[in-house]
Amino acid sequence: MEEQLSTKPAAPPVSAPPAPGQKPKYEFFKVVQGYLDEAARLIEVPDYITTILSQPKNEIIVNFPVRMDDGSIRLFKGYRIQHNNLLGPFKGGIRYHETVTLDDLKALAAMMTWKCALMNLPLGGGKGGIKFNPNAVSRAELQRITRRFFHALGANIGPETDIPAPDVGTDAKTMAWAMDTYMNTVGQLFKQAVKGVVTGKPVASGGTHGREKATGQGVVHCITEWAEEHDVNLGGATLLVQGFGNVGSNTAVLLSKLGASTIAVGDHTGYLYNPEGFNPHKLQDYVRKHRSIAGYPAGKPISREEFFRLKADIFIPAALENQVGPEEASSLQVRLVAEGANGPCAPEGERVLLERGIDILPDVLANSGGVTVSYYEWVQNKRSETWTLEEVDARLEKAMKRAYREVAEMARQKKCTLRIAAYAVALQRLAAVYGEREIFP
Ligand code: NAD
Repeated sequence: MEEQLSTKPAAPPVSAPPAPGQKPKYEFFKVVQGYLDEAARLIEVPDYITTILSQPKNEIIVNFPVRMDDGSIRLFKGYRIQHNNLLGPFKGGIRYHETVTLDDLKALAAMMTWKCALMNLPLGGGKGGIKFNPNAVSRAELQRITRRFFHALGANIGPETDIPAPDVGTDAKTMAWAMDTYMNTVGQLFKQAVKGVVTGKPVASGGTHGREKATGQGVVHCITEWAEEHDVNLGGATLLVQGFGNVGSNTAVLLSKLGASTIAVGDHTGYLYNPEGFNPHKLQDYVRKHRSIAGYPAGKPISREEFFRLKADIFIPAALENQVGPEEASSLQVRLVAEGANGPCAPEGERVLLERGIDILPDVLANSGGVTVSYYEWVQNKRSETWTLEEVDARLEKAMKRAYREVAEMARQKKCTLRIAAYAVALQRLAAVYGEREIFP
């Protein structure tokens, strides 16, 4: 029988009710699909386009053995989700975390498709990861895990097919190992031509100036635009920052240069409060050395609940998804939530925030500075060029401000949230291309 392409999005899978006393399972991919469907209704995109976008193109799972320091062999499961490559090669981070699931990576890969489309980049969406705790292995083990993972991915990635980057639990060093591994699989002749297989590399190994702070920088451009629009002075503004890794720490450092002060921080080890304001540079250095905020002397330990109840101007979630449910949203006493992380607000949390008049700068817009500067790195690798930090910063500022204005305008026109507006701008671009190219064959 001939297979027919349904023109309706697949019905959501029925999930089992949670056991008594247990929180329901958070279905991140379903949440992201819900936003897409809402945006599609708003801008009247043909059903077949949302059907195509409702599932990733490829879901790659690899199992690979790694020799641990004690001589034992441990088997790891790695994923790479390739959501869509209509606009260009798949692009997206690699996450090392003990909670990594296929469903989350599908959601994160789809979000990369929307981000690249929103930012007008010739790239598609992807995401990958390994389910393990990178803080519980040695540096040598981490390197062997990374190299075996990228070797196992083999020809599924490449500078013209799929370009990974750092995400939670990975950084520039991880990307240097990944690039070196890939280079050694393509042979001597092509080694130098494949530097662009990953982005977010150290500058000396072919990375770009400005990539490390890029996501935080993009968040700050969005906050600055929002502050101008709402006549808010960032000088003297107070911040709560959840997650003090790449995104959280750089956002805090860059906002401190505008006079804003971080009064509370949190990470996987706990939460700290300092009403005088932390020195974000010192805290960033401490976290780089100690891998967490635990034991940092200049703050008073507080509980997660106390953190969410603190009065401040801006909350920057920069850790993981599903952090702001209805409880946290009812507690928060801020004017703005600027999503550095992907998916930090659950839909029920978002509803409460909006009802309470708290603005949200959505992830797809706010944290897209990272992939934008990754694109600049990829272009520099292709052309064997090195751009100055000033050049990178100027391009990023222009790109972020343009995207902010487009999203704000869409929200005004369609009377929708900034989140749905960001999805709508992205979807409009993808729909235009599908409309022109139609479906093969
Ligand atoms: P990172 O590994 O550098 O930092 C992650 C931070 O989250 C750490 O401080 C960690 O302690 C904290 N964390 C982990 N589990 C936590 C928990 N249960 N409760 C509280 N804090 C917890 O990662 P990152 O690159 O800064 O990424 C943070 C978020 O930003 C993720 O959602 C990621 O997808 C998103 N993001 C990152 C980039 C990028 O360029 N790195 C780009 C766009 C979006």
